[in-house]
Amino acid sequence: MVRLNSSFLNILNFNGTHFILNLKPTNHFNLKFTPIGGVGQIGGNCGLFETENLILIIDAGVLFPRAEHYGVHLASPTFSEIKKNKSVELILTHAHEDHIGALLQLLKHFPNIPIHVGEFCLLVLRRKFPKINLNIKTILKNGESFSIDEFSITPIIVPHSIPETFGIFLSYKNSGHLYISDFKYSPLFDKSFAHIKQAYSEKKVRYFYCDSTNILNPHENKSEQDVIDAIEKVLLSSEKNVFITFFPSNLERFCGILKICIKHHKTLFTLGRSVIEFAKNALEFGMLDQYEFDFINDDTEIQPINSVILVTGSQGDFFGGLRRLVDNESSKVKIKPNDKFIYSAKMIPGNEMKVMSLLNKLAHQKIDIFLPGSDTFHVSGHASFPEVKKVVTIVDPNFFVPIHGETVFLKKSQEKISNEFPKLNLVSVENGCSTLIKEEIYEVIEKEKGLSLLDFYDDNGNLVDQNTLRQRKKMALTGHILVCYRRSNLQSLRIETMGIVQSSKIDYEFLKNKIFNKLKNSDHNHQELNTYIRQYFLDTIGHKPVVGIYEIN
Ligand SMILES: [Zn+2]
Repeated sequence: MVRLNSSFLNILNFNGTHFILNLKPTNHFNLKFTPIGGVGQIGGNCGLFETENLILIIDAGVLFPRAEHYGVHLASPTFSEIKKNKSVELILTHAHEDHIGALLQLLKHFPNIPIHVGEFCLLVLRRKFPKINLNIKTILKNGESFSIDEFSITPIIVPHSIPETFGIFLSYKNSGHLYISDFKYSPLFDKSFAHIKQAYSEKKVRYFYCDSTNILNPHENKSEQDVIDAIEKVLLSSEKNVFITFFPSNLERFCGILKICIKHHKTLFTLGRSVIEFAKNALEFGMLDQYEFDFINDDTEIQPINSVILVTGSQGDFFGGLRRLVDNESSKVKIKPNDKFIYSAKMIPGNEMKVMSLLNKLAHQKIDIFLPGSDTFHVSGHASFPEVKKVVTIVDPNFFVPIHGETVFLKKSQEKISNEFPKLNLVSVENGCSTLIKEEIYEVIEKEKGLSLLDFYDDNGNLVDQNTLRQRKKMALTGHILVCYRRSNLQSLRIETMGIVQSSKIDYEFLKNKIFNKLKNSDHNHQELNTYIRQYFLDTIGHKPVVGIYEIN
């Protein structure tokens, strides 16, 4: 589908076909924007701004694997596609995993890449990768501009759910680009925006790349203080232990809980390492200066009584604190009937079933469970639609680019914003597609780069390819039949099965005799035997397992 209007030409992907627009060579090449992650998916955030001499990367995040990614623990953008014939530099906006988690993969391709990062994010990186030498070029400060090649760059602090989240204002020739992949609205936004308001408004072409994660929410977010008030109410109503699971990177919530524990003389315990790791970051960052603070060793024999216990693993992670608590695998901390449990987080799409099965187990144990919805036990770090609307009014762009969200969120964001701001130009972007930015825009669909999938057990960063993934999926869904024999002694023939329900319909003696007879005929090759065995299972149990036939010497 090709849509034309006076201000821009837009070529969209239609029925899965990629249209390629060959741009004529021009002496006026301005700027190209290519997201290689974070668009059409939640996670893996990575946007490239490319000029003649430079590729400026904003963020290098991971994506948590989907159900079809068997044996994959992390997915990252495909950095190998980034051209190596230009300077490449990196800006990290904040310390969430979906913005920094793929840094090691990026460093494999660009080992000495100059990094521009805020102080808090740098603390997190140093704790996360203590042995990696990072080439830190700029420490980002709210409203302080610096230059890279022809870009003038001004970071501004925006409200989110982790300290020091930056929106990035890129000034390039007569265009201004405000890139804020994660934010919510609070009056802090107006204060920060004041740093760039004049410079941005003077630009003829003004792009706003905007978070779409929470666009379906029609209500303004409540505040973190509302969450702390709701938690405090539960604390006051109980003489029992109160367990709280939350995102440990949300240090505003951590500090709020700490405050009410001090106020009501409760001891705070933690289950799971990441709470302590982030608390140490908070301490070093000066967020806990007002408290006398001591980390007591993990080996303490103190048992929590009438206490608050912060639990990691709110997404049902296999090695998280919540799973260990529910499965009674922690020798130190036990949850008992009538204890209270607060789920102070959001179930990230795709994790709902994992989390719900853990909550079901807690309900069976007669634990008092409090979920968001019954009261304000969680608020999002992402702007709802009324907040996006407010921010678009403040920023006053002439091009609006939804990023950071599933495809549905991006489309809804365009739909809702175009209803409110009919004169605003809407720009669709896709992972791996470049948008050439001039005074008008041309959108160019390039090849889909896809994700890089990292194997759960491979520390060397080898990727899981699509063929391996297909084999894993087949084995997981259909089971595995193993046939071994010695040519010199066919009586040694053995059949082993894995992941096959032992249906009474399967006659292994019959199958073994058939295989034996076929092997006696030396013309019979493994391929034909494989086909025969798969057909036998299809006829008896209705599906074909993966078959492996091995001749042992
Ligand atoms: Zn974030």
